[in-house]
Order: sequence, then structure tokens, then C-alpha cells
Amino acid sequence: MAFPRLTVLDDFAQAAAHDFDAVLLVGDFNQTLPADFSAHVKRAKRLDQRVGHSALLVPSEVPGGRLICAPTGALDSDYADVRQVAEAAGVAAKIAEQAGARKPLLVVFGLPAEGPFAQAEAVAYWGACQALYQPLEAREAHGEEALEPITEMGLVASVNGDWLMAIEAGKRLARDLCGTEPERMSARNFARYLQQAFAQSPVQVTVIDDIEQLRRDYPLLMAVARSSVQVERHRPCVVRLEYKAPAAEKTLMFAGKGIVYDTGGADLKINGHMAGMSRDKGGAAGVAGFIKSVALLRPETINVVAELGLVRNSIGAEAFVADEIITGHSGVRVRIGNTDAEGRLLLADLLSHLRVSAASYANPELFSVATLTGHAALSKGPYTALIPNGPARVNDCIEPLWQAGELYGDPSEISWSRREDFQFVRARTRADDVLSSNNGPSATTKRGHQFPMAFLTIAAGLDQHGNNSQQPLPYIHVDIAGSGVEGGDWQHGKPTATPVASFAGRYLSR
Ligand SMILES: [Zn+2]
Repeated sequence: MAFPRLTVLDDFAQAAAHDFDAVLLVGDFNQTLPADFSAHVKRAKRLDQRVGHSALLVPSEVPGGRLICAPTGALDSDYADVRQVAEAAGVAAKIAEQAGARKPLLVVFGLPAEGPFAQAEAVAYWGACQALYQPLEAREAHGEEALEPITEMGLVASVNGDWLMAIEAGKRLARDLCGTEPERMSARNFARYLQQAFAQSPVQVTVIDDIEQLRRDYPLLMAVARSSVQVERHRPCVVRLEYKAPAAEKTLMFAGKGIVYDTGGADLKINGHMAGMSRDKGGAAGVAGFIKSVALLRPETINVVAELGLVRNSIGAEAFVADEIITGHSGVRVRIGNTDAEGRLLLADLLSHLRVSAASYANPELFSVATLTGHAALSKGPYTALIPNGPARVNDCIEPLWQAGELYGDPSEISWSRREDFQFVRARTRADDVLSSNNGPSATTKRGHQFPMAFLTIAAGLDQHGNNSQQPLPYIHVDIAGSGVEGGDWQHGKPTATPVASFAGRYLSR
């Protein structure tokens, strides 16, 4: 894993003891400049008035002779957020790389004391790493050394460098798994990648790939997989990841949507809407990325369990179709509304397994993470949608997760689960228990990202674990359809590795 290794300095004076070859100066250049660079910036500004307004390399008496000034814009406005720092650091890192620097030093200045900037230096490092990351296929074709030449970086901040690198290792793994094309990262190859990534780690990896076992234990998942089974290299699997804490007080349980390719199935995606659907595995990728960070940091008190459903939603003679009724792992009979609403089917089985095993873990909290609905992208833009159930609201699970996203540059917005959502997926006759979806695009359906959470709650049997039950189970549905790739460009956008930073900020102590 060649992402830039980090050296943390308490202040810029320590830089002399290292061989940095560029300085990336990131901040609001309309505020007071840091004393070490003020004269350089003012001199450069006399020659070029763009300095401080656009990102520029200015030759200066700093390490390497290269001072890269990368403005964030105003950080004190009511709507400023820490991603401005990530974006500026990313632009600066790319300029440094193209200029030939191999070991830049990152300096962030002028952060407001108020507002979500307490972790801005960490976010700057991750922003630089995000910009320097190159896709797995590109690295395999051309070599990592050629494509990612910056292998070291300095950061002036009081942060735990090992913690930051552990999170970046998780984000990198998530980007690889989400971003890679559907043959290189087929379901079975996804599982192999994880087996390698977690070899010699405290995370136990179990791959369930026996088709008969999957049919028995994950019937909804296997309905989605039905027309992929004839092609051996497209066959599905479930990967279970488990980290056992030495003194567990809490257990995070994740279901991850890993649709390695989504044709839509018999409700085929048409008019060009299929391109980019190799990224429909971003939920499983994000969960695996978070667990990579867990494996490196080995939290004392937090167990993590995940079930990742890795499936190709193919079209063919065996394809499942709308109107079918399939009994899920929970025993709930699901009426298929549209075969392109497939992610929720496998998530329902995965969540049902987690529900059953939750009783044997300390303080379980359940999550489903998925690129689930176009509606989430339409209504939230580039933000993750978080939808808590009743016990998650009562136990104050949602606000701290949202807050972590604000601080760690992985922002989300909260949506609420409503009775209309349950009404929307209700059974129309006694023939079935719940409807998976209407037969239309979520983006043109009212409450199109909220109602699937109602479906998941019913189809996974979690409606038996509300606040009024014997065993309430907090559950948050995390829809990353708007936030999973940069710019919402599913075919070409770089994966963002969401929600790794939010979960790390929330649950992994520094
Ligand atoms: Zn789909």
C-alpha cells in the first residue's frame, strides 16, 4: 500500500532536520499569514497578483525552493466546511507532484477557532492522499512507483500520525474496492482482495461461496444472483469480517452492499444509465475500508462484525423478475417490485443474519451501508444520507455520527423514517408481507431514499426490535449514492471512500 507515509512536526522550525522538497501552504490568504512564510508570499504577490487567489507554485527560500500557495477561500462563513481544506490540499499536492516534488511538507494556517475545523490538518492530509491516489487498474498496468511518486509527506500539526495513516489505509482499500472494473473486481476477486488485505491481521475473514449454502441462508441475495450463477467467474459470495476487541463494550455490525455490477437485471438499465454501475459496490467497500483501519488500530472496547454481499446483478434467462415472491432469511415474504432495486434485497438477508447474532454481542448497533438510491443523490447532493430507526434515535446514535462527518471531512445529512415509508411498502394482499419497491426510478418517487429503509426494517425482521420490544436494536441506514464518488460521476469519478472517516472519527479513539 503505497500512500504517502506521514511525518508529523510540532512546528515548521523542525523542517530543517528533514529533506522536504516543497511546502504546501493551505489556508485563507486573506487572513494573517504565518510568520515563516509571510515575506515569501508578499514578495510573490508583488510579481503575480493571483497568489492567494488561485493555487500556484512560487519559487521561494523554503525547503526544496518550492512554495505552493493553495487558498481555501473564506473559512469563517456560516456555510464554510472542512472540505475546503481537503480540496486545497489536494490541488497543492497535485501541483507538487507535477513539479517533481517527492516529499512535500503540508502547512495549514488560519483555521477559525469556531466551527468544524478542529481536525482540519488531518483532513488536509487525507485530501492530499485522495488527490494523489491512482486507480488499481492503472497501478497494475503501469506500476505504483510511476503513478504515485510521492511516498512521503510532512505535516505541521499536533496530531497522531499513526492514526491518520491507519485511516488513510482504510480509505485507500475502500477506493480500490469501489473503483475497480467489474471483471478485475468480481465478487470472488473482491473476496480474494480482502483475504490478502487482512492476512496476518486481527480481523477474521470468512468467505461463503457455496451456492447451495447461499441459496439456503441468503435467499433474497441469491434471487439477485440467480442469472449470474451460470457464469463461474461471476458467481456471488458473502464475506464476513470480524474483529473481536479484548474488552468489548460495544459492537458495530455492518451490512454492506457489494453489487459488483448492476445491469438492473430484467428491469434493465437503458438509455446509458448502466455505465458506472461497477461502482455499486461502494457500500461494501466503505465498510471493508473502515475495518482495515480497525485492524491497524485494534480498538480495546469495540467489536466490529460485517457481512458483505458481493453479487453481480446480471440479466439472462434465469433472471428474477418483478412480481416474484421470495422468502428472505428472516422468514418475511418479499414481493419484488423492480429488479433494479436489488441492493435492498441482499441487505435484508445480511441484516437478518446480523439481527440473529446481535444477541450474543455487547451493545450491538446495526448499520447498512449502500449506494442505494438515485433519490439520495438527488436530494442530498454530495452528502451521505443517514436514516436512524427508533432505538438509534433514543440512544443518541445519530448526532455523534453526523458530527464526526462534519469534523473529518466526510459530511452527511440526517433523514427521518416516517409512517408513510412503511405504508408505501405494505403488502397489498396476504400473498406477501412486504413490497421491495415501486416500479419506477427512486429519483422520481416521493421519499425515494427514506422508504427503502422501511423495507429493510421489515424484510430483515428489525421491526421486531423497536423501542417497544424486548430487545431494541439501534439501526442506521447509510445511503452513499450521492457521496460515493467525486462529482457524482459514477463511471469516471474517483471513489471518495465514504463513510470510512465518519466511522473512524466517531468510534476509533486517537
Ligand atoms: Zn440497481
